[in-house]
Amino acid sequence: MSTDRLNEEQIKQATDFHGHWCPGLAIGIRASEWALKEMGKSPDEEIVAVVETDMCGVDAIQYLTGCTFGKGNLIHRDYGKNAFTFYRRRDGKAARLVLRPNIYGDAGPLMRKLHRKMQAEGLSEEEEKTWKETRGAISRRIMESDVAEVFEFKSPGSPVPKKARILAGLTCESCGEPVMETRTRRFNDQVLCIPCFETLEKR
Ligand SMILES: [Zn+2]
Ligand SMILES: [Zn+2]
Repeated sequence: MSTDRLNEEQIKQATDFHGHWCPGLAIGIRASEWALKEMGKSPDEEIVAVVETDMCGVDAIQYLTGCTFGKGNLIHRDYGKNAFTFYRRRDGKAARLVLRPNIYGDAGPLMRKLHRKMQAEGLSEEEEKTWKETRGAISRRIMESDVAEVFEFKSPGSPVPKKARILAGLTCESCGEPVMETRTRRFNDQVLCIPCFETLEKR
């Protein structure tokens, strides 16, 4: 293994953070590995990650790259894609990593079939075994393939998101809770938080 790869300990820690080992986590680990090598770690807001999924892989990104929701340098766009964009502020370096569909190989259709059956009626013992083995094989393939085989590298669709969110607060005129100005809505001349706005709007 070259030094560009994460070591066993880092992988174990990311797995503990996530709670289990799975193909999704493996995807996030490979994306993080690339980001750490090409962009460096982000103790502050220097590196920004925009993730287009809220599934397993994002936990690896939070744990390994230092891009976290709390710091504001991890941004979720709810597009349901295994796509991860990394930006480095100081020089504008950026790339969007999109999972190649053929990384699942022949196992893709089988996994989808078993997943549907699992949700609808549960799996037999035999199917459960196949499910586990197949997921294991996919995870291994994701970990062992060249990063260029795992992801297609594209240019980001949008510029780096603006720094530091403005915390200056208003107070919702319905529930009285402080709320970020950028998240307020106006309704009948009242300043409202989003849940209050949505409740009133439905009436
Ligand atoms: Zn998972
Ligand atoms: Zn409110």
